[in-house]
Amino acid sequence: MKKERFETSVIHAGYDSSHFQGSLVPPLYQTSTFTFDNAEQGEKRFAGEEPGFIYSRLGNPTVKLLETRIAELENGEAGLAFGSGMAAVSGVLFALLKAGDHILCSQGVYGCTFGLLSLLNEKFLITHDFSRMGTKEELVAGIKAETACIYVETPINPTMKLVDLQMVAEVGRQKGIPIIVDNTFCSPYLQTPISLGCDVVIHSATKYICGHGDVIAGLAVGTRAFMDMVSKTTLKDIGGIIAPFDAWLLLRGLKTLPVRMDRHCENAEKLASFLKKHPQVDRIFFPGDQEHSDYKIAATQMRKPGGLISFTIKGTKHDAQQFMNQLNLIKIAVSLGDAETLIQHPATMTHAVVPQETRKQMEIEDNLLRLSVGLEAWQDIEDDLAQAFAKMN
Ligand SMILES: *Cc1c(COP(=O)(O)O)cnc(C)c1O
Repeated sequence: MKKERFETSVIHAGYDSSHFQGSLVPPLYQTSTFTFDNAEQGEKRFAGEEPGFIYSRLGNPTVKLLETRIAELENGEAGLAFGSGMAAVSGVLFALLKAGDHILCSQGVYGCTFGLLSLLNEKFLITHDFSRMGTKEELVAGIKAETACIYVETPINPTMKLVDLQMVAEVGRQKGIPIIVDNTFCSPYLQTPISLGCDVVIHSATKYICGHGDVIAGLAVGTRAFMDMVSKTTLKDIGGIIAPFDAWLLLRGLKTLPVRMDRHCENAEKLASFLKKHPQVDRIFFPGDQEHSDYKIAATQMRKPGGLISFTIKGTKHDAQQFMNQLNLIKIAVSLGDAETLIQHPATMTHAVVPQETRKQMEIEDNLLRLSVGLEAWQDIEDDLAQAFAKMN
């Protein structure tokens, strides 16, 4: 079948309404189990000799459609859905790794991924190191004989540094090491790591893919062989599955992903230039800023610079908190990718668990704020920021 364009695939990929009594919207299979016509059919399904559903932890038609669709959108062979982004991260890592292995990780990963790496080390003797991955040499220098995967986030939260995925994929191919990319900040609309040569893509679907702030879920995409292995091991036996209704909500959210991302990105460009010029702002961290250290990488591997902006305000931690407290329209909350504009304070919220010295190395200062730009009129978001700055004097 001819591959359709992204904006069409988010709405149609993998679904044929003629198989579902003409239902325009894919049905929600809110069921735990599936009945067999007879005992022999049950035997065949368990033996894998006949296709069909058995029990919703092992597969569910609503979930399956979501998995097919995300695989199509990420240019991969097969997808899997999980009950959270962290269930996807842990499901993939547990399936891939064994005791004694080593993970080479980009500097400054998501807080709970940081926590998971420590857990893997404490319980299963799986070690890890962080690498800036700024150049090929720097990346190669971090690889050990026991390195079993390279784990990358780009852009990196909250300072929006980027990693050149094509460069990492090339090294991975040469060394025979799989590359796993957490693509949450971009969504498949802005960046498709598998097209750049990476092996596995992970999402916290809680963010842009859901887009409406009402679901916690995760997704992963890779080769059919690898995803089958994950499905038959960690997903089935650890059991971090998604609920059918949440899968249904994600299918609904996905339909508008390109339209929403365009608006998130457009609003972010406007607000980034407002913040950059503002006398009470010290520094902004936005991949679309021409002075951003990785502007060139952003321009080559991302369709647009995204909807997240971090910035430092002139002053202390107290000033940063006071500024947040003056905001009206903009809500104080972690998470991102929702219709509502959200602001958070990384040093005391998402990165509070990171020791202060490490935070400093990561450029997470006490006056740094992260804005997840929503879908409101950008002028209203700007007005809210402006009035909060005005009250700071
Ligand atoms: C939120 C997030 C996660 C974790 O996802 P949950 O759905 O909250 O479990 C992982 N990686 C990144 C980059 C995230 O932003």
